[in-house]
Amino acid sequence: MIFEIGEKIFRVMKAFREPRIATKDIVKEPAHKSPIFRGRHVVKYEICTGCDACNKICPVDAIKMKPLPIKRPNKVPEVNLAICIFCGLCEDVCPTKPEKAIKLAGGDIEMITDGTNNALDNFWVRVEIPQEWIEKKKKEEEEKAAKRKAKQEALLKGAANTMGKDEK
Ligand code: SF4
Ligand code: SF4
Repeated sequence: MIFEIGEKIFRVMKAFREPRIATKDIVKEPAHKSPIFRGRHVVKYEICTGCDACNKICPVDAIKMKPLPIKRPNKVPEVNLAICIFCGLCEDVCPTKPEKAIKLAGGDIEMITDGTNNALDNFWVRVEIPQEWIEKKKKEEEEKAAKRKAKQEALLKGAANTMGKDEK
């Protein structure tokens, strides 16, 4: 016990006598770069179906679905990289073909904070969708719904006519 305390005091005194200067500016250059790092997430909202599979499979609950005011996709994933373990399961499970709507392909990311919780917000992969795109999708959905309705009405009318003929 006394020996351990003595050793610690010695180490602290040594650190004061011979301070070690940082040799690397980690804000400017990565502290380390893993050869297997695939990059941060890229979300293609244009092809996402909002199926929620990426969110459901995420083992650490790093994905939150952002709701959209359209039917398909009615939500898209956003990723909290401060929680993510970069396992890639979200990409593997994404059903869109030939391209994945969520992909770990976004290049490097420096996970450096100023030590405050607020800085963790910087690590979200946010999906910003232009309002024009939303309006275009809304219009397409309205047109499709109108076509479906017209088709159903025509079918009903046809069926009613057939029944009328049969009764005569
Ligand atoms: S890479 Fe893994 S941990 Fe990160 S968001 Fe995707 S499923 Fe979740
Ligand atoms: S990114 Fe892929 S898995 Fe996730 S909601 Fe969109 S289509 Fe589904």
